[in-house]
Amino acid sequence: MNDSQSFDILVVGGGMTGSALALGLSRQGWKTALVESASAAAVMADTAPATTVNDFEPRVSAISVASQALLADLGVWASIAGQRHCPYQAMTVWDGDGTGRIHFEAAELQVRSLGTIVENRHIVRALFLGLQQSDVEVFDNTRVTGWVEQDGQCGIRLEGGRQLSASLVVAADGGNSRMRQWVGLPTREWDYDQQAIVCTVETSQTHQFTAWQRFSTTGPLAFLPLQSEAGDNHFCSIVWSQDTAEARRLMALEDSEFISALEMTIEQQLGQIKAVSRRFAFPLRQRHAKDYVRPGFALIGDAAHTIHPLAGQGANLGYSDVTVLLEELARARQSGLRPDNEQVLARYQRRRKGDNLAMMAAMEGFKQLFARDELPLRWLRNTGMRWLDRLGPLKNRLAAEAMGLNR
Ligand SMILES: Cc1cc2nc3c(=O)[nH]c(=O)nc-3n(C[C@H](O)[C@H](O)[C@H](O)COP(=O)(O)OP(=O)(O)OC[C@H]3O[C@@H](n4cnc5c(N)ncnc54)[C@H](O)[C@@H]3O)c2cc1C
Repeated sequence: MNDSQSFDILVVGGGMTGSALALGLSRQGWKTALVESASAAAVMADTAPATTVNDFEPRVSAISVASQALLADLGVWASIAGQRHCPYQAMTVWDGDGTGRIHFEAAELQVRSLGTIVENRHIVRALFLGLQQSDVEVFDNTRVTGWVEQDGQCGIRLEGGRQLSASLVVAADGGNSRMRQWVGLPTREWDYDQQAIVCTVETSQTHQFTAWQRFSTTGPLAFLPLQSEAGDNHFCSIVWSQDTAEARRLMALEDSEFISALEMTIEQQLGQIKAVSRRFAFPLRQRHAKDYVRPGFALIGDAAHTIHPLAGQGANLGYSDVTVLLEELARARQSGLRPDNEQVLARYQRRRKGDNLAMMAAMEGFKQLFARDELPLRWLRNTGMRWLDRLGPLKNRLAAEAMGLNR
């Protein structure tokens, strides 16, 4: 790799997590590069104001208070908040097959909002605008095609054959991470045999700045509040996770039939559904890398773990990875250590793995609890939800966990 360009840290993948990490690293003074296969011009393109369901991106994230704090630290939250986004003040979760219901209020928790719904592209756009003003060398429109290791130096091969080397390579290249596979970090994974249908709807009633989620034995349906630039609060992003056969059936319906199915499932909480956008379906798979690090290499975000979207935690876990890796690398820099220092990487793994595993186990527990129709389980979840709803401190702890305030 003698003629390759060399960096302290190379980040592969400029999605929500990779671009945030690269920005944070350059602010710490590391010589950083980011490689992303999409074009930066496309990522940073302006979006038209939203007036119909088709103007919103169907991929949105419920960004927790903790993730928001990271993005603010990186200097990009103002830019995200300057685009359309929707802070939500309440969340209602109920069992469609029973009587259990639980309601969370920001005011009860003494916070301004429980989180903010943001279109994924607006987050990445704000991060790329930040990168443009930073020292990060961005290789956009560039696909990584391999991992290279030579004379104790790590690096990557780009399409066209060019190589880049670094003390530390961080893979943020998503759930199907090729980097993780090339480096040889095994995963534990299983198929949920479910697909998440995502789309945008317009409802006759306003969403009341509330995230709505109804559970049924075939999977959860979430209505996440959106807000147009003009302040129209009749739009929601839908995440409807269903067993694969049922998801295929729903995807094949005409719009009018799909709307009827949605109205019935959400029990018309927001009145009638007046319009629905194009639908997309994502197969759901749980995946967890057995190790996040090895010499000269680390995984973050979906490259390290993917979970069921039922609690909207995937990107938030990725942002916790970014926060912790930035903390450990800042400490390394202050102590004059190299970024690939074994203890630094081991500490990152130790601090993140337990937390990610706990969240994954909780999601699996939830999914199983609601997937079963036996009477004792139905009784347990309905009684449990009603009991939890009345128990202020425990309910507030659960909400604080979801907001990332305990991480
Ligand atoms: C239906 C659904 C709903 C969700 N809702 C929520 C939610 O409400 N809240 C939440 O926190 N999370 C949510 N998630 C999860 C969240 O979307 C993911 O966790 C998040 O997008 C992962 O970001 P990432 O940057 O790690 O990976 P990705 O977004 O997958 O980014 C990977 C990047 O790497 C690039 N790349 C890949 N391979 C290469 C290569 N070889 N060379 C160069 N570049 C490459 C890609 O172009 C991409 O830009 C949801 C997920 C789904 C499926």
